[in-house]
Amino acid sequence: MPYDSAGLWARCLHSIQQKIQPQSFQTWFGPTNSLELCPEKAVIEVPTSFFADWLEEHYSWLIRATVEEETTWKPKLEFVVQSELEGPSEFINNETIKETPSPVDQVAEPVSNVSKNASTLVFPLNPKYRFEQFVVGDSNEFSFTAAKAVAESPGQTAFNPLVIYGGVGLGKTHLLQAIGELAHRKGTAEKIVYVTAEKFFSDYLHAIQKQDTAEYIQIYRNADLLLIDDIQFYVKTEGCQRELIHTFNTLYQNQKQIVLSSDRPPSTLKGFEDRLISRFQWGLVTDIEAPNLETRIAILNCKAEVKGVLLPAEVSRFLAEQVVSNVRELEGALVRLLTMKSHLGLNIDIDLARRALAGMGRQSAPRLPLNIDTVKKVTSDFFDIPIPLLIGATRKQEIASARHVGMYLCKSLIGAPLKTIGDEFGNRDHTTVIHACKTVEKKLSMDPEFGTLVTDLQNRIKSTVPA
Ligand code: ADP
Ligand code: MG
Repeated sequence: MPYDSAGLWARCLHSIQQKIQPQSFQTWFGPTNSLELCPEKAVIEVPTSFFADWLEEHYSWLIRATVEEETTWKPKLEFVVQSELEGPSEFINNETIKETPSPVDQVAEPVSNVSKNASTLVFPLNPKYRFEQFVVGDSNEFSFTAAKAVAESPGQTAFNPLVIYGGVGLGKTHLLQAIGELAHRKGTAEKIVYVTAEKFFSDYLHAIQKQDTAEYIQIYRNADLLLIDDIQFYVKTEGCQRELIHTFNTLYQNQKQIVLSSDRPPSTLKGFEDRLISRFQWGLVTDIEAPNLETRIAILNCKAEVKGVLLPAEVSRFLAEQVVSNVRELEGALVRLLTMKSHLGLNIDIDLARRALAGMGRQSAPRLPLNIDTVKKVTSDFFDIPIPLLIGATRKQEIASARHVGMYLCKSLIGAPLKTIGDEFGNRDHTTVIHACKTVEKKLSMDPEFGTLVTDLQNRIKSTVPA
């Protein structure tokens, strides 16, 4: 008896939907079908090979587990790319016909004398914004991957438009310019236009005033890849909105790629016509979040390397701990640190880093007194183990080991009496403290990695207490 592949897949989808973020589900599983689902194989139809690669790399384990859960089968997983991408193009054509012509169209016909051979950057890009210089972490991986896919095949992925949104200084401009740069380098788009929304609209208003829109059309409506940065700064006149819709439709219908950035999700942009907002959501909307500590450290190291400097690990960690929500500011701190280093002839250390931050008007770490409470607090943050657990009764190895380190630092950094340390670490006997200190000392003499860890923690404690 043939299996009901579609029905089984629908059940699997329902289950997968409960397990991952709605945006991820919609993006990656929304356009899938199952062509065959039986005990031997699961053939999943996807719109493009990019989807196949992404699903294979990120979700094949989830698909396998879910199919097994729903059917008890362990089929071989296969992805098949649809022969033709089904998009909303018919709908767009119909809708476009009804649009009022833009004033630009009334003044001039589109000019099309674009060179068909070479890739042209209509405006220069900042050479430091390349994909190779973009550090990927959990906070931006999705946007990075989509941006790269778009740069490699502009207009050919399901991501048209690609909208990248996120807070200030998190890398939107970097990614947009990197798309332009890669497409230029690989020659995947002939005419590449990167522009801020502000310029896009001021150029439009200027063209209308001059009553000469040929150049405007030549630039924007003939683009193969149009990257508009900071769309939230959009001039919200009716004419401007209409112009954007027309440019959008022309490019979209011709399978030209549009990429936008915004500081907020398109659905919450204020003052935009609904039909524009809905166009922004036709392709892929993806966000960039503030990077986590590990990514911030990697970004700092990457920026320092470009400047030919190797940052001591405790300094990059210290800076990354202090500047958490804005990569631009993090970079600013590094630049300041390096300037101070060369002007004052000082070594790069935590003290200089603290001075660099202070000069930026930043409070560098709340100052705490050097006492057992501070050691407990910083140790707890460092190992990500809550204080009650740290000083509690559990003998779980990683917790006991962090506890030993905490006790050892109370002894070595503060010189606190053994009895007091024992009392503060869960009313333990002073012999337990001696044992802890000996254990740590032995491990320090044998395991250099452990030594680095303890030094990092030591520096962290030192950086939170007054110099
Ligand atoms: P936004 O446009 O989102 O305000 P930018 O793209 O201008 O932010 O980024 C600010 C600075 O931070 C730039 O110098 C950029 O190179 C850097 N930056 C942001 N994110 C990253 C990252 N993940 N890797 C490397 N540099 C980054
Ligand atoms: Mg920007």
